[in-house]
Amino acid sequence: MSLGIVASLGVSLGLTAATILSKGSLEQKKRWLPGLATFEKVGAWAITEPDSGSDAFGGMQTTVRRDGDEYVLNGRKTFITNGPFADTVVVYAKLDDGSPVRDRPVLTFVLDRGMPGFVQASRSRRWG
Ligand SMILES: Cc1cc2nc3c(=O)[nH]c(=O)nc-3n(C[C@H](O)[C@H](O)[C@H](O)COP(=O)(O)OP(=O)(O)OC[C@H]3O[C@@H](n4cnc5c(N)ncnc54)[C@H](O)[C@@H]3O)c2cc1C
Repeated sequence: MSLGIVASLGVSLGLTAATILSKGSLEQKKRWLPGLATFEKVGAWAITEPDSGSDAFGGMQTTVRRDGDEYVLNGRKTFITNGPFADTVVVYAKLDDGSPVRDRPVLTFVLDRGMPGFVQASRSRRWG
């Protein structure tokens, strides 16, 4: 098996499903884990951004704010294994609570492929 396939399967199960398993509610686990555990669905796990790699949490620019009962996410991720074709994407974002950016809490969200406003680019233009 190629290392690329191993990385793809590993991220889908070991990072995406594992994060939902450890942080998700029962409802979220029931919704997303069966498909990921059987590899019927492809998962991705998105922390890295164009301007934050090693300092992922400190330099994170992606924000999230409350809007009534909903959250509005705004930002970009890069170098995301399975990113262009994943069905389920765990995304990390900083809560826009007015505190200094580096001190804001980091929250985790699960996005579904095809959600309004969610774009999964086919490849990084930086390398294209
Ligand atoms: C094949 C591949 C798959 C990936 N998949 C994912 C994924 O699925 N999800 C995801 O979120 N990310 C993913 N990434 C991104 C990966 O996590 C980042 O590349 C990594 O965090 C490093 O960030 P960077 O590339 O911006 O390097 P930088 O942070 O710019 O670091 C560049 C170099 O500088 C060094 N350096 C950085 N800061 C310091 C410091 N303070 N002191 C000394 N040295 C320092 C680093 O060790 C490194 O050698 C993937 C990357 C690759 C290559």
